[in-house]
This record gives sequence, C-alpha cells and structure tokens, in this order.
Amino acid sequence: GGSIEIYNRIRELIDAHELLVDLELDYEKEGIGVKKSGCHGFCEMGPLVRIEPENYLYLRVQFEDCVEIVEKTLINNEPIERLMYSAENRIYKAQEDIPFYHKQTRMVLKNCGSINAESFAEYVAKGGYEALSKVLFEMKPDEVCQSIIDSNLRGRGGGGYPAGRKWAQVLRQDSEVKYVVCNGDEGDPGAFMDRSIMEGDPHGVIEGMLIAGYATKSTAGYIYVRAEYPLAVERLRIAIEDARKHGLLGKNILNSGFSFDININKGAGAFVCGEGSALTASIEGERGMPRVKPPRTVEKGLWQKPTVLNNVETFANVPLIIKNGSSWFKGIGPENSPGTKAFAITGNVNNTGLIEVPMGTTLREVIFDIGGGIKDGKKFKAVQIGGPSGGCLTEEHLDLPLDFDSLKKVGAMIGSGGLVVMDEDTCMVEVARFFMNFTQNESCGKCVPCREGTKRMLEILEKIVEGKGTVGDLDLLEELADTISSTALCGLGKSAASPVASTLKHFRKEYVEHVVDKK
Ligand code: SF4
Repeated sequence: GGSIEIYNRIRELIDAHELLVDLELDYEKEGIGVKKSGCHGFCEMGPLVRIEPENYLYLRVQFEDCVEIVEKTLINNEPIERLMYSAENRIYKAQEDIPFYHKQTRMVLKNCGSINAESFAEYVAKGGYEALSKVLFEMKPDEVCQSIIDSNLRGRGGGGYPAGRKWAQVLRQDSEVKYVVCNGDEGDPGAFMDRSIMEGDPHGVIEGMLIAGYATKSTAGYIYVRAEYPLAVERLRIAIEDARKHGLLGKNILNSGFSFDININKGAGAFVCGEGSALTASIEGERGMPRVKPPRTVEKGLWQKPTVLNNVETFANVPLIIKNGSSWFKGIGPENSPGTKAFAITGNVNNTGLIEVPMGTTLREVIFDIGGGIKDGKKFKAVQIGGPSGGCLTEEHLDLPLDFDSLKKVGAMIGSGGLVVMDEDTCMVEVARFFMNFTQNESCGKCVPCREGTKRMLEILEKIVEGKGTVGDLDLLEELADTISSTALCGLGKSAASPVASTLKHFRKEYVEHVVDKK
C-alpha cells in the first residue's frame, strides 16, 4: 500500500526542482522522469522504488523518505543505504545482487517492474512486437507451430501439455473460423502470477496471442480475465487499443494479409471456469460448466470452432521463443520441461512474492535462497503446490527439481504455480480442511461424485478438526478421495481430493492425533 502516494510525492518534488521530464516525449531533454511499473515481485518489501540507471532498489519506502530520495539520490547521486536490502552486515545496492533476485531468471517477468505497462512505446523499445513481425514476414504458419513444438514449451496453466502440438492440431482443422483463447482466470488461492503478467506486461500476452493466431490461421482472440482483476482488465484494454491504433490488431495487420482482433471477457470468478470447456461456455454467455470430452477444444472449442486455449504465462513465453529461437529456450531448465516458471510464494516464508526460476530449480533453492527461509527462525514443515488441485511436499522433497515430470512422480503438480509455505506450527488437517472447503464451494454441481463427495469429505474433515473423528473416518476419507478422483467429470473434481490425499499420506500421524480412538 501507499505506492501511488509515493509516486505522486516523488513526481511533485522533482517538479518543484524543475527537473521533471516525460520519459516518452522529452527523451532529448535533461532531467528526471518517474514512472509507475508493474509488480517487481518482492511483495514483502513494498512499496519499492527503483533508481535507474544505477539499479538501486529502495525497499519499504515511506512517504517521509521521498524528500531524501529526490534530494540525495536523484539530484546528488548518493545512495541511501538505510532503504537498501541488508543481510549479514552486507548492503545490497543493485537489485540483481539481492538474494531474492539473484537466483531468479526473469524472462516473462522481465518487463514487469521495469517498463510502464501502459506505454506501447516502452514495450516496443524493449524489442516488443519484433517476434510478431518476424512470423508475419519470414515464417509460414506451420513453421511457427513447428518452432513452438521444437522449443517444447509446455502449458503453464497446470497440465503441461505441449503448446506447439496443440497449435498444430488447430492449424490442421478445416474451418474458416478458429479462435485463440487466453485463460486469465487464475483462481488458486495464493496465486497471482498471471495477474502480475497481465498488469505488468500486457503487450507480451497480446503479442503471444497474435502469434498463435497467425500460426493456427485463427480469426479472433479472447482473453478471459476474472473480474476481481480490474487493473489487469484496464491495462489489457489500453494495450489492445494501442495495438489497434498501430495497426497490430484488426484487418490486414501491417499489410501482411493476416487479420486478427482480441476481445476481453470478464469472468465472475468461478474457479471451475479455469477448466477449458467451462471457460469457453462462459465466454459464449452460458453457465460456466465443464462438458464431457471428446470433442476436444482443439476440434470444437469456442462456439464449436477449433480453439487454441493456453494460459497467460504460456502466451507470454511465445514472443521470447520466436525472437531467441527454440534452441535458446530448450537450453533453459531440463530437456523435458524447458524454460522458466513463475511462482507466487506465500505463507510462512520470509520473502513472500512473485518469482521466476528455471524449471528444475529445487524447492530448497526457492524456499531458502530466494524465499529467505522460514519466518521467525521456525522449521519448515511443508509446502502446498498447485493450489487446491495440488498436493503438499515435505522435507524429503526439498531437493526435488520443480518441473512437470518430477512433481508428477511424487503425486504433486506445478498447477499454475502457487506455493504456500507452512512452518512447524501449521496443522495439516486444518490445511486439508481449508482446501476442501474451497473446492467444495467451487464445485459446479454437475456431477454427483464431485458434488456429493466433496461435501461428505468436508463434513468428515470438520469432524476431525473438532476432535470428534475416528480412525474409520480416515479410511473413509481415503476411499472417497479415490472414488472422486476416478469418477469426476472435470479436472476440478478429479483433483479435489489431492490436498487431503497428500496430507494423509505424509502426515497421517497428525490426523491420528486428532481422532478420538487414537491407535
Ligand atoms: Fe462440476 Fe465437479 Fe463435475 Fe467438474 S467434477 S463438472 S466441478 S461437479
């Protein structure tokens, strides 16, 4: 909180010294410009002020610090150490040196926190829309699909399905009308990666969708954003308008013969709308309920037309791959899960925030090096990964590389990238109850196992939390978990029991301590 007041105050003070310049218009004039940027990721330390070109990062800036920032640093070039990150008697002046940033590889988040998200010119100045122009003028649609296949970019929304394969399937469909849909319906409690990308670098998402549109011969794109993200909606709206003004959206883009436009759809915040078929139903104005597959979305998606459906982070990777090449992308992280992944770390960790690391980075590096370890010197107990559809990982998994396949092997999943860290005092039964309550509320009610099963599981968990459960209830929980995951219609139901199943597996003792007939 307070960032806007600090921005206004700094602006006012620079102006009082007659040094204020507009960074876009007065680039030949001497002076000091000030801009608002997207999220830097270091939530714990906000409000943040970054000074360029020195790259100083000032943390937890207060309104009263503004005079000193302007007079000392901006006018006299003196750093203010008091506002810089310090640990073990060291002061970290440059942002990149701070341990929180040092182990990160910021690719999709690179522009977040560095450019003004509402400026088309700044995006272009950073090489934006170069990838679009490359595909439009140098590549055929099937070559674009092939390059995404070669990069092995896997969907960042949870499943990890190869994006290029999906695109090639849509390209192959014989239909005059095809669609590209961007899933910005991030619903996991504790996750805000997609939101930060849409708020901090909206053109990156639009460029990715345009490239997908060209690659699949699609005619229009839809971005489905939850209405609880008004700033993301606003920034996307501005970016779409600017792109249109510059001839990058609409008919015959840059005289290439390719026409494509993008619309924004605001979702009402139903978790199930993250599920592909529920999401397309919701765009069509129907109730957001999943349907039985097949047909698959690539064949009959939005309005029964072939549809590419990827999430925000997946699209944001696309311009980078086109610009730098598939082999560059494949060179980051493990071969089967290349690239980076954005995670939102929350919970009992020192540095909460938004991070981006190469796939394959271990949980230990994420929690201890970047996250700065557990709060108040307590011990690490577990981390919930993948939100309510994911599972928990414990001490024995700390050296596990975070990538799609390694996590699958231990029964967890990256999901969209939420990481909720828990310390030794956290009650795992309560954690399971929390997630089950969430999923039960969000079940759309279409199929019985999910609708009734989650209700039943929640009742049992509540009984156990109140100390009234029995050992038999634990067996019943396991049975219900099995039934729901094998019979539910959609992903929400299939994974609804995962938090319970994984806490039961790793912390059964804790459950037993809660029940009346402890054995
Ligand atoms: Fe709805 Fe649950 Fe069935 Fe999915 S599994 S369709 S959320 S009732």
